[in-house]
Amino acid sequence: MKSEIITIGDELMSGEVLDTNFSWLAEQLWTLGCEVHWHTSVRDDPATMAESFKNAQRSDLVIVTGGLGPTSDDRTLAVAAETFARPLEEDSKALEAIKKRLQVLGRDLNDSQAKQAMKPQGSTMFPNVKGTAPGCRMEEHETQFIFLVGVPSEMKEQWSRDVVPFIRSLQKDPYVFKQKIFRCFGSPEAELEEKLKNFSSDVRLSYRLKFPEVLIKVAASSAEEALVNQSISSAEKEIREKLGRSIYAVDDNPIEKVINTLLTERNETVAIAESCTGGLISHMLTEVSGSSAYLDRSFVTYSNQSKVDLLGVSADTIEKFGAVSSECVLEMAQSARERAGTDYALAVSGIAGPSGGTDDKPVGTVYVALATPQGCTDKKYFFPFGRHYFKEIAAHVALHRLRRHIEMA
Ligand code: ATP
Repeated sequence: MKSEIITIGDELMSGEVLDTNFSWLAEQLWTLGCEVHWHTSVRDDPATMAESFKNAQRSDLVIVTGGLGPTSDDRTLAVAAETFARPLEEDSKALEAIKKRLQVLGRDLNDSQAKQAMKPQGSTMFPNVKGTAPGCRMEEHETQFIFLVGVPSEMKEQWSRDVVPFIRSLQKDPYVFKQKIFRCFGSPEAELEEKLKNFSSDVRLSYRLKFPEVLIKVAASSAEEALVNQSISSAEKEIREKLGRSIYAVDDNPIEKVINTLLTERNETVAIAESCTGGLISHMLTEVSGSSAYLDRSFVTYSNQSKVDLLGVSADTIEKFGAVSSECVLEMAQSARERAGTDYALAVSGIAGPSGGTDDKPVGTVYVALATPQGCTDKKYFFPFGRHYFKEIAAHVALHRLRRHIEMA
């Protein structure tokens, strides 16, 4: 089905808001077998909107987002009605739903709110369970127009609840689409690509750098589910053979979720001592629900004195070797483990830059230590990638050290 996407909003055209609805919808349409041929972004200007609607009749399916709300600049449906010479009419069911929603919020219905229930004649409205503005669909000379709200979370809900089943109902042949994402860490994208050079499985293969990881996606589609499953599993076999341990997880399982699984399964705990990452490792871990079961505590010891005060690192060690040293990071990890009484402790100390580097220890130098029941080890790394990326990669490296240790135990 030839498709197109129209995103509406002054804030998109001024660059204030990134058009994430487009990228999300494009990916969703792709998984449904609807190729996106055009994408237009327009201001909240009736003439420009009308022009984009008229042009969109070149497509079978048009997804429009934005401008369905109560404010005066929300006029998508009014413009659609005028463009296609359909009078606006009230949808009583939609109006009731808006009233109910407002009641829950303790507010009364006013004219602006009621405007959201006005639809072009002959169109069908569908609910917005997360907000007030309903969605709407209509057929115009064999083109299906689907209007969705602009707020991304509400738009996604409308999409899954009403739009996906509707698009499937338009499709004559069954369309099965599946994909699997292989998450790789520690090998550059070019190296992974080189290893997969003669990839022979019959799937679509794509790469995406999600610093510091590389995500490799395989996707297959067919009218038959069995064929799709077969393609994906033979691609998986080939990828695993060629990339081996570069792959650490699949799909929506970033390192912090892998750590969650590993520690929860083993009923083990961890403490963190962070210097240059400033709490990022702890932040990543606590992004996962249930992390209180295994993350006992974090020491964010940024200054030298705090390393002495909170972790008991010897002032002599810092004096003699510096805070960014193997000696210091080993003491940090050991002490964090002892003080917290955990199975493991991770410690990180490094120079994020741009200042603070020396000939001996240039900006980008970082030491990562892991304390375990078997002892404490550390490793020195060099990531001269700028402050933000330095922190990201240092935090990931630390968590991957813990993952590898547990997996190999
Ligand atoms: P509502 O009135 O309920 O907010 P609406 O359909 O009128 O819904 P808009 O007013 O156009 O939506 O946008 C609502 C919010 O959604 C704004 O904060 C806007 O920046 C954001 N938004 C709109 N379109 C997009 C888009 N294409 N990508 C990302 N965010 C968007």
